[in-house]
Amino acid sequence: MIIERIAKAIIKQDWLVIMIEVMVVVVGIFIGLQVDDWRTAHENKRFENQYITHLHDELSLMIIRDKTVVKRSNKAIKLLEEAGLYFSQSSDTLAMTPEHCFAIARSHIFADAIESPAVIKELLVTGRIMLISKDALRASIVNFDSSIEAYKQLRDDIQQDRIVLSRRHSELISMGFGWDKTECNFERMAKHRGFLNEFYDNMLRYLTYSRVVILEQQIKRVELHKLLDKELNITHSE
Ligand SMILES: [Zn+2]
Repeated sequence: MIIERIAKAIIKQDWLVIMIEVMVVVVGIFIGLQVDDWRTAHENKRFENQYITHLHDELSLMIIRDKTVVKRSNKAIKLLEEAGLYFSQSSDTLAMTPEHCFAIARSHIFADAIESPAVIKELLVTGRIMLISKDALRASIVNFDSSIEAYKQLRDDIQQDRIVLSRRHSELISMGFGWDKTECNFERMAKHRGFLNEFYDNMLRYLTYSRVVILEQQIKRVELHKLLDKELNITHSE
């Protein structure tokens, strides 16, 4: 036992032995601490890689889903803009269809997912965001989450006081089960100033929702995904 040896050396006043034994203890503690630090650093790096990989995979799935959402939203805008042109009589070649009617009837719906990947939420809630060692990547993840929160707020603002046209103007819109069962009286709509005011109001809200909330959210996801690709040395075939 080292303590016993030191005690005996003290009794004998053998200072050289005392010094050597104390040195052994100090060096032992130092090596122990170093090993512990190395183990912690190694574990943290492993966790960091796991989080980055999970985040990359989750974002990849979201980006695939975004494509469908953007496509659907672009189609809704095209239909609403065509209806707008028809109502303003700046186009007499446009024919209104049940799809236009359905888009008008649903012009108050802003229901697509606006969300951060679950991994980001976990990193932020648990404070493990500090495991992301590169400052720039950590800042990008935090900024991404802040942007999503801002888009949620913007969507809430856009939705406030929105108008459900089919409820307000049931004489003009008859809703059915599915887009092909929804009917509109387009000619009467074009002459109804109150309806037109509310339609254009909904249209502008939907345009802002689509171009800012949906599209920018998608762009932010693609940007963060690119950073993660770089970090993980992943290349995707376009
Ligand atoms: Zn990737």
